[in-house]
Amino acid sequence: MTPAHPNSIIRPDKDTFLAEENPFEAMMSRFDYAAQRLNLDPGLYKILRSPEKQIIVSVPIVRDNGEVEVFTGYRVLYNTARGPAKGGIRFDLNVTLDEVKALAAWMTWKCAVVNLPFGGSKGGVVCDPSNLSNLELERITRRYTAALIDILGPESDVPAPDMNTNERVMAWIMDTYSMHKRHTVTAVVTGKPVEMGGSLGRRDATGRGCMFVTREALKQLGLSMRGARVAVQGFGNVGSTAARLLAEQGAVIVAVSDKNGGIHDPAGIDIAAALEWVREHRFLDGFPGTERITNEELLAVDCDVLIPAALENVITSKNAGSIRAKIICEGANGPTTANADRILDEKGIFVIPDILANAGGVTVSYFEWVQDRGGYFWDEETVNSRLERIMVNSYDEVSAMAQKHQVNLRIGAYMLAIERVSAVHRLRGIYA
Ligand code: NAD
Repeated sequence: MTPAHPNSIIRPDKDTFLAEENPFEAMMSRFDYAAQRLNLDPGLYKILRSPEKQIIVSVPIVRDNGEVEVFTGYRVLYNTARGPAKGGIRFDLNVTLDEVKALAAWMTWKCAVVNLPFGGSKGGVVCDPSNLSNLELERITRRYTAALIDILGPESDVPAPDMNTNERVMAWIMDTYSMHKRHTVTAVVTGKPVEMGGSLGRRDATGRGCMFVTREALKQLGLSMRGARVAVQGFGNVGSTAARLLAEQGAVIVAVSDKNGGIHDPAGIDIAAALEWVREHRFLDGFPGTERITNEELLAVDCDVLIPAALENVITSKNAGSIRAKIICEGANGPTTANADRILDEKGIFVIPDILANAGGVTVSYFEWVQDRGGYFWDEETVNSRLERIMVNSYDEVSAMAQKHQVNLRIGAYMLAIERVSAVHRLRGIYA
């Protein structure tokens, strides 16, 4: 990153919260740089730097043993200029207002990059789901939803699953909201079970989106998909789907991992067999015919494409130097720290940034919302082909922006997002 200009619009107190692994900083340092490159008007900068609404609620429930426990819940609507807020809800002990704020901002830029008519939000409840029964989780979900009843809605704020929440939780939110409204409102959440207004194709959407943008990047760099060697960190929803679909396109998956470690075979891993193994044994551990590697070793494997699809802050200034991939496709949110970006740039590694690479999930969430509101459901082929069109168009638009301003794809993506959100603010003006 270049040093701040003397007339910089960047806040002077920015350094006080600088930390390589602070999620808000990781996001805002890229945002600030992109805003500067765009010469963003200082007034608009202040608006885009400030969350619209931050809500803290107490969530009391009766536990299974009869005792009362009170949890803390958050919901942040970062920006709704372009449409209803969209963003997941997580249940985790590490949830903080700062983190929720950062993730809500992230959603704002992500929705703008793929040009969905949504703003960005995020929510969470501070709790440890592994110590809660299903009934207790249901009570937390329903009480949290009731506390936010005036905020949520298809036209105002639409949650989705995130860490430790799933289709089941979305079904409870939809039911609670509908009971309050006295009629069924399917479009209040996305990521629902297909039987009650969910979309076909949602489960694979994020990994499928990763496959589309990886394919476009390979094409742009003059590399072939057939025989491209791919390493994937994380073998959950995003990672395993990306690996499976890339293998179907002719790529060779040389390494995959989960939280217990990874497996490596330069000749290629049979992904269908690995998926079967995990269904039976839960983890990749012991998958025959491959060499065991650690997650750290996986990042440095000799490959053409590296897909971090597990968690945030895995590529840092400490290990970026050892990465050998030509392309990094960020399936996870925030896998690369801002300091690592500089090293990857120097090494000429082509990074497809998270706010583009993993936007396939929110894109099919948008399709779900559209289908719920229209009351007319699409077949999976329609979902997948519309997803492909949006991902490929967005890739081209980010790429054009990056080339125009001679920046990398990440900064190009932020510039596109900032331009789109600020254009709407300019047109709408400030309501007095
Ligand atoms: P998941 O829970 O299905 O899978 C996570 C995988 O990562 C698992 O294989 C787990 O074993 C592995 N993992 C956990 N800790 C690890 C560690 N320390 N080292 C290596 N691997 C580890 O989750 P998911 O839905 O696939 O999400 C993965 C990432 O993608 C997250 O960052 C998530 O925010 C992001 N993301 C997901 C979606 C989606 O639609 N699911 C959309 C956008 C972004």
